[in-house]
Amino acid sequence: MAKTGMERLEELRKEIFKCIHCKACRFAYSNEPDKDGIGEFAGKQGTILYEGMVDACPAGIEYGWEAFWNAGKMWIARSILSGDLEFSEEVRDVFLPCITCGQCSAQCENKVPTVDIIESLRAACLEAGIPMIDKHEVVDKLVKERNNPYGGKAAERFKWAKDAGLEKFIDNKGAKIAYYVGCTASYRQVEVAIATAKLFELLGMNFTLVDDEVCCGSPFFRIGAVDTAQELMRKNLEAFKNVEMVYFSCAGCYRTFTIDYPKWMAEGEKLPFKTQHAFELVARLVQQEKIKFKPNKELKGKVVTYHDPCHTGRHFAIDMEQEMIKESTNLIVDHRAIDKAIEAWYEVPRIILRKLEEDVGLVFKEMYRIKIDSMCCGAGGGVRAGYPEFSLRTASLRCDEANAVGADILTTECPFCWRNLSDANEMYEHGMKVLGILQMITEYNLLEILNKPTEKDFLTLSIREEIGHLPKK
Ligand code: SF4
Ligand code: SF4
Repeated sequence: MAKTGMERLEELRKEIFKCIHCKACRFAYSNEPDKDGIGEFAGKQGTILYEGMVDACPAGIEYGWEAFWNAGKMWIARSILSGDLEFSEEVRDVFLPCITCGQCSAQCENKVPTVDIIESLRAACLEAGIPMIDKHEVVDKLVKERNNPYGGKAAERFKWAKDAGLEKFIDNKGAKIAYYVGCTASYRQVEVAIATAKLFELLGMNFTLVDDEVCCGSPFFRIGAVDTAQELMRKNLEAFKNVEMVYFSCAGCYRTFTIDYPKWMAEGEKLPFKTQHAFELVARLVQQEKIKFKPNKELKGKVVTYHDPCHTGRHFAIDMEQEMIKESTNLIVDHRAIDKAIEAWYEVPRIILRKLEEDVGLVFKEMYRIKIDSMCCGAGGGVRAGYPEFSLRTASLRCDEANAVGADILTTECPFCWRNLSDANEMYEHGMKVLGILQMITEYNLLEILNKPTEKDFLTLSIREEIGHLPKK
């Protein structure tokens, strides 16, 4: 039987008490106070200094008070466990506006699993009878009625595929590979779904869009509504049980299937399929010189930057670190091997971007906060639905950072990041174009196939599997 939020908090007791309130988790580059940067930049959200350690916790930046930074939340968890504090709506309203971006966890030298703790606090709070905030109630009700938080009709989930001439892939019986589209790309950012499916078609992949696909449950795991999330997980596990590989275009769905599902499945139960993000396949095909890109006049000279989604970036990096620590037979783990694996993981989308720079003629330029120190887009953790102003201001801070390096195009590989960054780009007039990398490849017709990939290529496990282990002795 699944554990309650309070039981999970109890399990995390030792980790919670490891927090020494040093507040290093407030900063990006907390161990690089002298890091060179691009200096001060006056963006739409005020003047920001991009040098050395910079504030990184969006919740702390937005609300300012001690309790809203991660260290405050760890103290709340400690007080709940010690019986010094009880759950209430006031307490809920402190730990709920947090994007669960994982920046705090990545910065903590004591390796406190802050996101697990915050999610457990939220689940325990709901169990204690404290209601959800109204905006979360709405999405919870919608997903229970319609299997997606947008209230879209089940029959219209793959309307984008019909409209784009990709109907043959719906319920394509016998295919060993599935594309899990997710709710945001199905009902809102259909550009991402179309671009991904068209790219698969161009590559010659025989895949299926599974008719019974439902929401992955990510927002509900994040806000503590774990019963709702587990119900959705069960439906997806049943719907996808006959395929060998599931591909994703959404960072959040990918993280949920790959990291959350195994945590919530029964003991001994295993995911019945392999998972990977579409960008992993494209990067691998670039590395193997099976594909390249065509020059493009419109993109030539354009400055392109990349936003690492927290769900494909930090959340996988932190999970990889924890798995490698578990794998280790030494009490003291050589952290250089872990750092190398994490660096290789963050390079995956950059393999594509550097190839695009070389072949297409665009200029790839990194923002100040990147990879494990990357600033969140503001959409996750139930924040876009629950606290839209905070969410969009955070996205605008990220757009400021892209403006600071003169970006014409801000790319990312998640429809949810795409949505929030696009909305902030428009609302605060940042003047860029926001695009998915794969979307750029299909919309500008950049793909050139040198050596047609085989089904074996599509079924081969991701780069993630190769790099996320300690070197064998
Ligand atoms: S979570 Fe880690 S970095 Fe943050 S205050 Fe606690 S010990 Fe320090
Ligand atoms: S998860 Fe992100 S928003 Fe939440 S406390 Fe940590 S750094 Fe701040």
